[in-house]
Amino acid sequence: MRVVDIIIKKRDGFALTTEEINFFIEGYSKGEIPDYQAAAFAMAVFFRGMSVEETTMLTLAMASSGKQLDLSHIAPVVADKHSTGGVGDKTTMVVTPLVAATGLPIAKMSGRGLGYFGGTVDKLETIPGFRAALSDTEFLEAFAKVGLVVSGQSSELAPADGKLYALRDVTGTVESIPLIAASVMSKKIAAGANCIVLDVKFGKGAFMKTLEDATFLAETMVEIGRGAGRKVRAVLSSMEQPLGWAVGNTLEVREAIETLQRKGPPDLLELAFILGSQLIVMSGRAENELEARAQLHQALDSGAAFEKYKQFVANQGGDTKYLDNPELLPTAPFKGEVLSLQSGYISAIDAEMVGITAHLLGAGRKVKTDPIDPAVGLILQHKVGDFVERGEPLLEIHARTSESLKKATVQILNAFIFSPLKVTPPAFIARIV
Ligand code: URA
Repeated sequence: MRVVDIIIKKRDGFALTTEEINFFIEGYSKGEIPDYQAAAFAMAVFFRGMSVEETTMLTLAMASSGKQLDLSHIAPVVADKHSTGGVGDKTTMVVTPLVAATGLPIAKMSGRGLGYFGGTVDKLETIPGFRAALSDTEFLEAFAKVGLVVSGQSSELAPADGKLYALRDVTGTVESIPLIAASVMSKKIAAGANCIVLDVKFGKGAFMKTLEDATFLAETMVEIGRGAGRKVRAVLSSMEQPLGWAVGNTLEVREAIETLQRKGPPDLLELAFILGSQLIVMSGRAENELEARAQLHQALDSGAAFEKYKQFVANQGGDTKYLDNPELLPTAPFKGEVLSLQSGYISAIDAEMVGITAHLLGAGRKVKTDPIDPAVGLILQHKVGDFVERGEPLLEIHARTSESLKKATVQILNAFIFSPLKVTPPAFIARIV
């Protein structure tokens, strides 16, 4: 079999066989297929798509590119959560300690930043000492000790996704339903949890711009997960405006801490409750969502969720003094408020433009090997529906240089649309699959 023939076959719109998909994924994970052929393959899939059968084969091949963990000797029921990516999406850092604090253990593999979205691994690694690159033995030990573990891709767990994910990030091949579905579900299958909730984002600031595409992605992933014997539900949540207030790595870590201390943005906490209650009900630890929410409230109000977050961070080498004193986390040298040029109700905040601005400030990567700047980003001071006076601050920008601060200030003003009439904030959960 020749790699180039597989690329040509997909380029010309034909369905690939299991053997071809396995051959490609195996060769790429072993380093026998170079990045340039993998990039061409990803672009062919991007344009030609894949059937659900091909996507399932791709997922299984990627999941079996490394070890697949069996967690049943540690806990019979294990939860996992994954988001398809959104601007300001730091939900993992809130929902996982909340759920784990109710007694339902969580074992999760997360990604780095992708496109103009931040990734949980990059965010967590801004906590000094925190290690997300765990071997499978470390993953199991960390899980057994605290009941909550979050790792990045490693050479042991879904390595094919690790390589392809980083390649897609810089080759314009992210927004593809089969590639996203296979990337997400291969990680979920490899990490071993049996109850999985997927947060599938749609709208301006998401990979899936329409509810229709997001629904198809959600249904595909749910089908793949169920086929692999897992309980899976997907929540379709809107990404028309950024989630919460903060966008940028340490800024989001801080906001997650504040949320676990009941001082965070209401939309972030609500999403965490929706996702968390799905997991608790799926696990059988509550009869219905109301009961599950009561458990989550108890974990939040008692401080147990924040305690769990600290245990989890410490267990993976992170220094918890930064969680108790988040002001010690790295900060950017240049800060500036962006003032509104008009009075009115905010009718839209373009999440894509906010994400791209954070990326340009240095919060994301331009090429695979780029480091991210942990401290830069934006903090919104208003959300859709708010009334602002001309001259009032809309947001604060945290930048590395005065030059980038100036550029971002000019660019970000275009993200805000105003209306003279009262605006009702959009509902942010569309449906549950
Ligand atoms: N999250 C992932 O893990 N993979 C994708 O491709 C997109 C979001």
